Amino acid sequence: MPTHLHTSLIYGPVHSRRLGASLGVNLLPPDGKVCTFDCLYCECGMNGERRTHSALPQRKDVVDQLERRLCEIAAAGEPLDDITFVGNGEPTVNPAFPQIVDDTLALRNALAPQATVSVLSNGSLAGRPAVHTALEKLDGNILKLDAVDEDYVRFLDRPQGRFNLDETLRVYESFEGNVSIQTMFVRGRVLGHDVDNTGDAFVRPWLAALRRIRPKIVEVYTVDRITPVPGFEKVPPEDLDAIRDRVRALGIPCMAAY
Ligand code: SF4
Repeated sequence: MPTHLHTSLIYGPVHSRRLGASLGVNLLPPDGKVCTFDCLYCECGMNGERRTHSALPQRKDVVDQLERRLCEIAAAGEPLDDITFVGNGEPTVNPAFPQIVDDTLALRNALAPQATVSVLSNGSLAGRPAVHTALEKLDGNILKLDAVDEDYVRFLDRPQGRFNLDETLRVYESFEGNVSIQTMFVRGRVLGHDVDNTGDAFVRPWLAALRRIRPKIVEVYTVDRITPVPGFEKVPPEDLDAIRDRVRALGIPCMAAY
């Protein structure tokens, strides 16, 4: 199996082009994946192949382990730019997510005041009041928007259960700019379908949505590691740069990661 899971609750710091030296906090079990999406390109593998019956990490364990690791990093003088909720699936499915955000911000203030605190989320639960409030507190509220085409999202990101793209966009707008957007651009032939969200038919409505959401920053990227489903092709840097420049032309900061 070429895809991988994070086998610990806290990992890193690892280098992230966007976030710098980033300490990962995995709010999902270490032996499987729990996600409200099941993206065909997911680095953690497909939900069905990564089933787990393990409990989600408890608030106390997260705080204890994070505090210990932050103390070690401070004592060693290691650089730390960001603490990121990211791991084996969707961080906001952990019911203690709002409390863990508060705990993490307090630990950051005490032990690593230079670091930001971020989440990489698919945004599916961002409309829940407690999750929404927690996301608003973060320095980096980074939410997924791979396309403004419901059929494409259903095919590629495979939301599990109820999904409504208009509602997603309304929720994203409701952050009033206190949100960042991350978009995966891909090409290829996947499960017998031609896939390409880099053409004008996809990029124009996506830009229109960005105009409404007014995110702090947009990150466009493409597949990096081996995907659980074959057929994806990396989008060349020059094509990602062209999309990045169209975002910047709207007055919205944007970076491309290859
Ligand atoms: S939202 Fe993220 S974790 Fe969930 S399936 Fe998609 S890529 Fe994987």
